[in-house]
Amino acid sequence: MKKNKQEKRRKLVIFTGYACNNNCVFCINADKRKIRPKTTQEILREIYACSKKGVEILELIGGETTIRDDFFSLLAAAKKIGIKETIIATNGRMFSDLSFTKKALESGLGAVIFSVHGSDKKIHDMLTCVPGSFFQLKKGIENFKKLGFSKVNGNTTVVKQNMRDLPKIADFYVSKGIRNVEYIFVDPNYGGAKNNFDKYVPKISAASVFMKKAIDIGLKAGYDQWKARYVPLCHFRGYFDHISEINERKLFFVEHSAPDFVNKDVLTSRRKAGRKKTRRCFGCSVYAICEGLWKEYLAVYGDAELKPIKNEK
Ligand code: SF4
Repeated sequence: MKKNKQEKRRKLVIFTGYACNNNCVFCINADKRKIRPKTTQEILREIYACSKKGVEILELIGGETTIRDDFFSLLAAAKKIGIKETIIATNGRMFSDLSFTKKALESGLGAVIFSVHGSDKKIHDMLTCVPGSFFQLKKGIENFKKLGFSKVNGNTTVVKQNMRDLPKIADFYVSKGIRNVEYIFVDPNYGGAKNNFDKYVPKISAASVFMKKAIDIGLKAGYDQWKARYVPLCHFRGYFDHISEINERKLFFVEHSAPDFVNKDVLTSRRKAGRKKTRRCFGCSVYAICEGLWKEYLAVYGDAELKPIKNEK
């Protein structure tokens, strides 16, 4: 199978179901927990179709994929058909069991993204609503290290409650040797952050200060693959090499398949449906590469924080 015409790598993200053993307060899927998860057969059919579609990267996410009974067999199926890399995004709790971690690697897990929402149990567990979840996540990361597995990545959803903690979260990532990290500005279009917008969604002008500090900590430690996601570029001048959206548009073609929707071109539709630039943006020199802000953010906070850039490409 040929690559698509832009020669980008094709990535399929399968949302296996919305059930989760955490209950993060800002979760985009907070209102979807009762939707029927995909069956094993449904997921296997999609995995087997990957070679025909030229999919090189398969990402399994939830909810929480690791709590499914068929987790290992899904990894094994992807390995069997020769998918180049199978990644999962996880709250990390199941990996606190060393034998579980070992089995995931033996089954074909290619990389793992841990969601770290606080630098300690106080903040992380408060946001996940599960006491002990930070301890288990930490143990999970350590178990991968113990087994000599280095493809351990991190992501942090940025909300009011943890934005000031981002530099300490960055220190945590450095202490674990995590080379790929994303600081994700919370999506208030759906779920927990939409339902409790005032409680969880920070102003971008405030959050961006801490997000940049966190990226700087990574850079100082020699990690140049730490990024910010879902942010307007005017708050990240000098950091354009560290914006996930810019990077992923160059490298990937991304498709999503979930129990309740299919999105054949995620990057284009996010620009069109999820995010927005406003009249203030007219004349901005990075208009073409910037995705603006989440629509719901603009509906609540307005666009006064956007500052067109006059002289940057
Ligand atoms: S002014 Fe608008 S287009 Fe320019 S960087 Fe800010 S959000 Fe993006």
